[in-house]
Amino acid sequence: MTLWTEYPDGIIQVRLPLGQPLPWINSYLIQGKEGLTVIDPGPRSEAAIAIWHQVCERFGYQYTDIGQIVLTHHHPDHYGLAGWLQQHSGAPVRMTRAGNEQADGLWGPGRPLAARIAALFGEHGLPQSRLHEVLDHFAAGTAGVEPRPTVTELSLGERLRIGDRSFEAIDTPGHAAGHVSLYGEESGVLLCGDLVLPESLPNVSYVPGYDVDPIASFTASLEQVESLPVRLALPGHQNPFSAFSERLVALRKLHSERQEKIEQSLGTEAVDAYELSQRVFGQAVSVLQLRFYLGETIARLHHAVQRGKVKSIRSEGGTGYVRIYPN
Ligand SMILES: [Zn+2]
Repeated sequence: MTLWTEYPDGIIQVRLPLGQPLPWINSYLIQGKEGLTVIDPGPRSEAAIAIWHQVCERFGYQYTDIGQIVLTHHHPDHYGLAGWLQQHSGAPVRMTRAGNEQADGLWGPGRPLAARIAALFGEHGLPQSRLHEVLDHFAAGTAGVEPRPTVTELSLGERLRIGDRSFEAIDTPGHAAGHVSLYGEESGVLLCGDLVLPESLPNVSYVPGYDVDPIASFTASLEQVESLPVRLALPGHQNPFSAFSERLVALRKLHSERQEKIEQSLGTEAVDAYELSQRVFGQAVSVLQLRFYLGETIARLHHAVQRGKVKSIRSEGGTGYVRIYPN
């Protein structure tokens, strides 16, 4: 894996290793006269830290040359290293309020959001044994984000100086509540986080207490960026690309096909979301994958219920779903 690639406008794509199904996350180091900006510093891992050391050495920077760290969203592969990099640079970490609240709920005192997600999964048919795996996974995840950064709130619509250009923080929820994309209108560069990936459909999961219909939000976010004349899209995973509108068309199609698949996998007999997630996605090979599969299945069922396509049936054993057939 090539560790970094340089783009015009002082942009360096830094690839930091993850695992399957996304082998790496992109962090972007953007150089300007007024200092460096790091977008999404990456996961808290020794491998990622070693790569940051190499990047600094190769380009002749000190960590203290970093003027700001900006996060597109709070997921640990993007946010994990933010606190560490803040300690080494002294730079402010900019993130939306919703992102920061979720980070607190997942990894802060008592981890209440992690408990709510686990309870949601239990209500949707996840067996007890697997529920423990999910809770353990959340608990273990805390080490992957420490030390946690002190966050300076990033407002939706705020303009930021990144490199030598002005960028606008555009509200693009769906993949995560509080997710922003950063658009530089002079350069036509869009830092799109995990809203638009060139080779896969981003996961959209339901998170209790935030977005009631993240599937609808994701669609609206794609529409939101559709009118932008994007010359270069810098995604959170896979590689930068320029055929942006073509990719949006393809993504919308994949997104609605996935939705139909979920709805059509239901019949007149109530099925819980866990069972349905296995029918649609197959057996998860890791706890992370299980969370993605089940979280997305629940999000899509909520969306179908909102649109009158599916009905939820609550019983003592949990929530089941049936399809509504038009007469
Ligand atoms: Zn993400």
